[in-house]
Amino acid sequence: MRHLLHINGLDGPLLQQFGCDCGRCRAPERAANTSASLISLDGDGQAVHHLLFDVGLGVMDSLNASPYLRGAAARLDGIALTHWHPDHVAELNRLCVSHYNNRRRRGQDTGRVPLHCRAGTLAWLKREQGYVVRVHVEPHVFDECEPPGARLRPLPLSLPGVQVTPISVSHYTADERPDDSAEMVYCCAAFVIETARTKAVLLWDMDSENEWLVAPQTAEQSATVAFLADADLLFIDTSFWHRRAHRTTHPSFENVLRYARPLRPRRTLLMHLSGHPDGPGNPGYGWMNAAWTAAASAAWAEAGLSGTVAAPDLGEMFEM
Ligand SMILES: [Zn+2]
Ligand SMILES: [Zn+2]
Repeated sequence: MRHLLHINGLDGPLLQQFGCDCGRCRAPERAANTSASLISLDGDGQAVHHLLFDVGLGVMDSLNASPYLRGAAARLDGIALTHWHPDHVAELNRLCVSHYNNRRRRGQDTGRVPLHCRAGTLAWLKREQGYVVRVHVEPHVFDECEPPGARLRPLPLSLPGVQVTPISVSHYTADERPDDSAEMVYCCAAFVIETARTKAVLLWDMDSENEWLVAPQTAEQSATVAFLADADLLFIDTSFWHRRAHRTTHPSFENVLRYARPLRPRRTLLMHLSGHPDGPGNPGYGWMNAAWTAAASAAWAEAGLSGTVAAPDLGEMFEM
C-alpha cells in the first residue's frame, strides 16, 4: 500500500482578512495551509483509506480538487482534529453532511465518521457544533488532559502499517474551557504519523511557549522530543517572523528556528502563514509562499540548521 500526505488549503492568509491590503490578502489565489489528508492507495492507485487532519474553511475545495478523492472516489475514513479553533473545524458540518448525503444516494454505508480529538476539543465542539457531533461523527477521545509534552494514546485506525500518535501541546486561547470556569484544559494536539518508510510530524497549532521542545523539564518531555526528532517531514505552525518577549498564540519563524535545532527534521514545511502580526515593513508581511521559502531558506543556512525549509503549496503531495 502507498501513502500520500496531501496538503489542503484555505484562503490567502488565515483567512483573507476583511479590510487588509497586504499582498497576501490581495492575491486572489488561496495559499494558507492548516490541513492535510493522509490518503492510502492500493496497487491500482485507488484510494482505500482517507484520514483528514483538520477541516477549516476551504478544505473541501482542496478535497474536491484531489485526483484521488474526486467524485465517486471520495471517501472519508476518519477525521483527526488538532483543536477546536474555527480555522480547523469550520467546514466539519459541510463535509460530514455532504459525505452522508452522497453515500446515501449511492446506497453506501452512511455510518458515523470516526472523529479523533482531545476531550477539551470535543467539549467545545459539543457546544459550537452540537448537531454534527450528535448525528454525524463517532468521537474517539485520546487523552485525559495531559500537560504539554505528553505522548497520548495512538489513534485506533484500521490501517495496517500506519501509526498516528497525538502529542499534547499548549495553544494559548484554545486551552480555555468551553464553560465559564477559569480552569484551563489542554485542548490541542500535534500528530506523529509513522509508516514503514516515513515519519511525519504535524506540529500545528501551538503557542510560543512550548519551551519543552528546546528545554524538556521531565523524563516524559525528553522522551517526546526524542520521538519527534529526526522526522522526514516536520509541518510546523509559523504565523509571523519576529519572536516576541510575551506569549503569543502562535510561534514566529524565529521560534521555529529554535525548535528545529533539537528536532533536526530533514524537511521543514511552514504552515499557518499569515505575516500579519509584525505589520508592514517586516519580513513575512504580505509575502506569498515563494517569498517565505526564499527568506526562510536563507535564515536556515545562516543558522547552520540541517535539512531544507519551505512553505508547501496547496495540493502538494508528500510520499509517506
Ligand atoms: Zn488555533
Ligand atoms: Zn489555527
